[in-house]
Order: sequence, then C-alpha cells, then structure tokens
Amino acid sequence: ENVIQVRHLAKSYGDTVVLRDVSLAVPEGSVTAMIGPSGAGKSTVLRCMNLLEKPDSGEIEIDGHAINAGEKISPKNLAALRRSAGMVFQHFNLFPHMTVLRNISLPQERVLGRNKDEANTKSMELLTRMGLADKADHYPARCSGGQQQRIAIARALALGPRVMLFDEPTSALDPEVGVEVLEVMKELASEGMTMVVVTHEMGFAANVSDELVVMADGGIIESGDPHQIMSDP
Ligand code: ADP
Ligand code: ADP
Repeated sequence: ENVIQVRHLAKSYGDTVVLRDVSLAVPEGSVTAMIGPSGAGKSTVLRCMNLLEKPDSGEIEIDGHAINAGEKISPKNLAALRRSAGMVFQHFNLFPHMTVLRNISLPQERVLGRNKDEANTKSMELLTRMGLADKADHYPARCSGGQQQRIAIARALALGPRVMLFDEPTSALDPEVGVEVLEVMKELASEGMTMVVVTHEMGFAANVSDELVVMADGGIIESGDPHQIMSDP
C-alpha cells in the first residue's frame, strides 16, 4: 500500500518552471531518498506534500487524504493532512522564545487538542528517547545544532504522523553532529516509519533508503534501487 502518491505535479513561479510532471509513490514503511543538485525542485516536492506550497497542477494523496491542485482543500482535510505528515527542516525551525518542552507540547495542544499534562508527558517521553530529557527547560539557543534537530524530530513525532518528511536535516550541521541525527532517522526507519528524505548524505541514501529518486531541473531523471543507481556509470 502506498502511503504517499504524487501524480503529475507541476509548479512554476512566473516564467520559472520549478516542477514538471513529478510522479512518485512511497510504500508504507519504506524510505525514499531524494537527491540532485541545488535548485532541482526537491524541497518544493516536500513542501507541496506538506501543504507549505501549492502546486499548479497534479494530485497528492497522503494516508488516504487527497490534495488536487485545482480544488480548495476543506479545513477538515487540511487538518488531517497536517497531522499525517511530520516535517523536519534544514534549520530546525524551533520557536526561539519557548522552552524545549513547550516547543514539543504546544503543537500537540493546538493540533490534537491534548491538555497540557498529556502533552508534557508525551513530550518528556520523546525527549527521553532522544537522550535530551535534561534539556526540557532550556531554550533552543542553548542547545547544539544536533540537539535542536532531534528536538524538531521529537516535535514532529509527537503528533503521531503516518509519514515523516525531512528536508536536508543534516545540511546545517557539522558532520560529527549530523551523525546523531542520522542515527535517530535510521532508528525510525528500522521501526517502520514511512519517510521521504531530501539529503546530500550519500551514505544514508545508499544504506538506509529503499528507493532513490534523482531530480534535476524540476523533474525526476532516475528512480529505483539505490545500489543499482549509484553503481551506474
Ligand atoms: P532543491 O530543494 O532541489 O534545492 P527547491 O525546490 O528549493 O530546489 O527550488 C527549486 C527552484 O525553485 C529553485 O530554482 C528556487 O530558486 C525556486 N524557488 C523556490 N521557491 C521559490 C519562490 N517562492 N519563488 C520563486 N522561485 C522559487
Ligand atoms: P531552506 O534552505 O531552509 O530550504 P530556502 O532558502 O530555500 O529555505 O527558502 C526560503 C524561502 O524562500 C522559502 O519559503 C522559499 O519558498 C523561498 N524562496 C526560495 N527560493 C526563492 C526564489 N528564487 N524567489 C523567491 N522565493 C524563494
């Protein structure tokens, strides 16, 4: 069963074509890595999946909820889609004026309607899992980049998503710190989380992903088994 289905996605900004006819399917429990040069449109595909961008044409279906480019999304469908897909960004995007605990709890209260105690309990459980329980009362700026990214992952997981979307999650980190984040991602993959990861980490793409999607110039130029694609001349 495909948890994500993207069909004929297209998007332009004025005369600039950013996506041309992008289609892909992500089976449940699989990891898709998207690679390709900067400006290829990888981030835009993820942002369309998470409703941060609106495609000009095409369809996206996530966890049974459909987005059709031509149609207005109902508020109910929008909320369901936002819960279905957890997003992790290159620059963490934590709320700087809130403690680490509050960063993880607030979306649960807003999106899931959990009360503060329930949300805090869930947040502490996830922080403990990330090895960051002692950071709960700190502000994000006092945490290292790798810690901030693991906090961002915890914040996304707290909403119980069916899929996790990662947009260059280690690109802003020193390699030795990026490893901590990659370990968390590998663990999620081994637990069966469905994931789409835009990345420059070829080791991760080769060893963790089930499907490699190579983008260039707004389109998919190759996709399939990572080892096979990487061994191509
Ligand atoms: P990638 O993730 O592969 O680096 P992006 O999806 O970020 O590529 O960007 C694809 C292209 O779309 C780039 O040329 C970028 O400059 C352009 N782009 C992205 N967002 C906008 C925007 N809001 N307005 C105009 N161009 C944009
Ligand atoms: P990140 O590197 O964190 O993915 P970007 O720097 O690519 O973020 O983009 C930041 C914001 O600027 C996004 O909202 C994106 O849509 C917009 N953007 C990116 N490229 C362009 C562009 N060429 N023209 C206008 N807006 C752009």
